[in-house]
Order: sequence, then structure tokens, then C-alpha cells
Amino acid sequence: MTEKRLWLRNPRGVFTANDLDADGGVVVEGSSIVELVPAGQRPATGYDEGFEARDHVILPGLVNTHHHFYQTLTRVWAPVVNVPLFPWLVNLYPVWARLTPRDLELATTVALAELLLSGCTTAADHHYLFPGGMEDSIDIQVSVVRNLGMRALLTRGSMTLGEDDGGLPPRQTVQQAEVILADSKRLIQQHHERGHGARIQIGLAPCSPFSVTTDIMRDSAAMAAEHDVRLHTHLAETIDEEDFCRDMFGLRTVDYLESVGWLSPRTWLAHGVHFNDEEIARLGAAGVGIAHCPTSNMRLASGICRAVELEDAGAVVGLGVDGSASNDGSNLMLEARQALYVQRLRYGAEQATPERALGWATKGSARALGRDDVGEIAAGKQADLALFKTDDIRFSGSHDPVAALLLCGAERADRVMVGGQWRVVDGEIDGLDLPALIAEHSAAARRMVAGM
Ligand SMILES: [Zn+2]
Repeated sequence: MTEKRLWLRNPRGVFTANDLDADGGVVVEGSSIVELVPAGQRPATGYDEGFEARDHVILPGLVNTHHHFYQTLTRVWAPVVNVPLFPWLVNLYPVWARLTPRDLELATTVALAELLLSGCTTAADHHYLFPGGMEDSIDIQVSVVRNLGMRALLTRGSMTLGEDDGGLPPRQTVQQAEVILADSKRLIQQHHERGHGARIQIGLAPCSPFSVTTDIMRDSAAMAAEHDVRLHTHLAETIDEEDFCRDMFGLRTVDYLESVGWLSPRTWLAHGVHFNDEEIARLGAAGVGIAHCPTSNMRLASGICRAVELEDAGAVVGLGVDGSASNDGSNLMLEARQALYVQRLRYGAEQATPERALGWATKGSARALGRDDVGEIAAGKQADLALFKTDDIRFSGSHDPVAALLLCGAERADRVMVGGQWRVVDGEIDGLDLPALIAEHSAAARRMVAGM
């Protein structure tokens, strides 16, 4: 972290995610942004060092709201390349049940490194797999986040409704409610940081209506309120899930959510594809967050999230790359591009703009995770910044530099700063041997599906 005042000066373009003018650059001191410089001016209170950003477009560090890091080990596994959600899950559960601590460490490092290289500085993960020997899963993830110098909201996921009880997951992947709740409390007490600049936060995340009991939904909501942490789950991803809720609980998904005490601004939901008008109004009035995951929704042919209407109704909309078995990449810039295009198909070109999609990937995602100290460029915010160059052939001849990031398909940041510290320089992560990581991760992935 720089103790000197660093001026990222005269950038080619800036997207602040608010109405502030930073066309003359951004001044960083310590872990924070201390000044935005208007076009043609110099920092009002001086600076110690300058970084020439003439070739860069500056964004707030992107924020990812939904992922399953462990799934980087099962990207593009042939038996599930061409199936929708339920058979996709049923085929993958036994493979995932083989997960080892080292596998998870490698998978988490790969997912976070890929996100970081795409300009992401804060990431949420939804980890719900705790087969025997994997009791320390979240602790492993905490150490990887710290090593990479990023921020994360790691959710303690859970599955309690096994196939013997009418759920989808096999018996060996579900846990007892008491075990889940005791571990959730331990993780909050051990790792959850509060307040401005937090690096590690813990949330509670029963997996989905078809893999958990209503008791664990209610108990998780109560524990989240008691400890003031966030709540996350998958909801309304597919019509299969809607049918499951009607058959199992006699309720539509949002009625189910309300019945277990989750219709609140503490909650953010992955996907949120299949809501009707009345449900959108209720979710908006409650200030629920939505992790829009466009690539995953297209990959599994789940449907198109009504993101613009949800946002207009008052819901908080962010973006998620989702787990790497249903994307299969972890590139948040490309996800923003997907969001722009798929929302244009639904709402037309005027409502789904590059600025709106970038707003979802930054400020919207930060709000969905309950944070107001990251996700935008303003004095007093954390100095989490992503700098993209536009000198690649794909940008040649482009005019609006901010819109070009999405429309020409920027995919790799040149520089990324987290809390005032450069973590990516010249497109490389400081201190990470990427070829060695890829080799070991790829070997682990082959082992995981061997004989399946
Ligand atoms: Zn997911």
C-alpha cells in the first residue's frame, strides 16, 4: 500500500459508477481514494508520485456476487456439456463429493486469479460441499484470498435435503443442521471482518430450495440477523425448481422465500430468472439483491433474468460469473458484456447500456454484498481500481473508451489495485506462478473425474 499520494493522471477514460468527474484522474493515499481530479486540472492538495494513465481506462474494481470456486475443476466435463440444471447437478454431485482440501485450494486460487486478471477485486463464493475431510473448506478459502491480496465474502453453504428425503443431492453430500449451524457460528467469529475496508467477510448460504430443509433456511436467517451477516441462496433459476417448490412446499419461489423469513435487504439471490410481475414488485420493495448470472443462464438454457425491471422496482442488481462448471469461465468483464447483450434482447438498446452493465458489475454488485466502501470511484472509498488498456487490435478504431471495454470485448486488465496496493501489473499477478498453478490444477481436475 502506498503511503505517498499517487496520482493516476489523465486517463484515456474513467467510469466512476456515479456522477462524479474524474477525467483528470484519481489520487490514492494509503488504502483509500482521496481525490478525483476534473479534466484539465491537477490535484488540489498536491501529490508525491504520478502514474501516467494516458493509455488506460479506469474502472472501480469489479465485484463478483456469485461463484462456486471448486467448480473450476469440472469445467466443460463432457457428460454435462449439453444438459439443463437438474441432470447437470445429478451427474456432478458424485464427482464433487471427491473434493480434497488441496483440490479446493487449487480451485479457489484458479478462480480468484482468473477473476483478478479480469479486473475483479472483491468476490463472493457459495461453498456448500463439505464431504468427510472437507470441514476446513472455508478456512482454506480464507487463506487463498489473503495470499492473493483480494477481498471476499465467503458464504458457508449447506445442503440438508438428501435424495432419501425428496431432495436432489446424494446422501453423502448433505449435513446435519446442528453441524452446519455450529460451523457457521465458528466461521463468523473466527473470520468475519466488519466495517470499512474489510478483506474477509462470512455469509450464510443454504444451497437451494431443492437441496435444503425449511428449518435450515429459518435457522440461517435467524443466525444471520443475530450476527449481522448476509444471506445468500439460489432462487428461481429454472422452471424445474419452480415445479419442485410447488410440489414440495405448495408455494411459488418468492412465497417460499417469504415463508422462511428471507424477504429482506440482508438477502441476495443467485439467478432470479423466473419471477412474475407481482413477485418483482415484492422483491423490489424488500430491497433484495439479485446476482444476475447471464452466461450460466444461457449455458444451462435457464432463461433471461428480468434485471432491468427488478432494478427499476427497487431490487439491487449485481453480476455473477457463477460456478465454472456452468459458465465455464470466471471473467467478470466478459460477464458484463454478456449482461449487456442478453438484457438488450429483452429490453432494447436504450435501457441496457454499457454504463448500466458496468454499474451492475461494480456498484450494484457491491451493494448486493452489503458494501458501500467499494464498487465506485469517489473520495473516501477504498482504492480498488481496475485499469484496462485499449491498444489491442480489437479496440483499433474505437471511439468511446468506456463503452469500448464491453463492445469490443476487453477481457484482461493491465493493472489492478486492491486497497491501494497493485496486485496486477502488466497483466500479471504479483507473486503468482501461473503456469505452475495451471499444471497442478489441471492434474487435479483429471484425477477428479477419473473413472466416472
Ligand atoms: Zn450457483
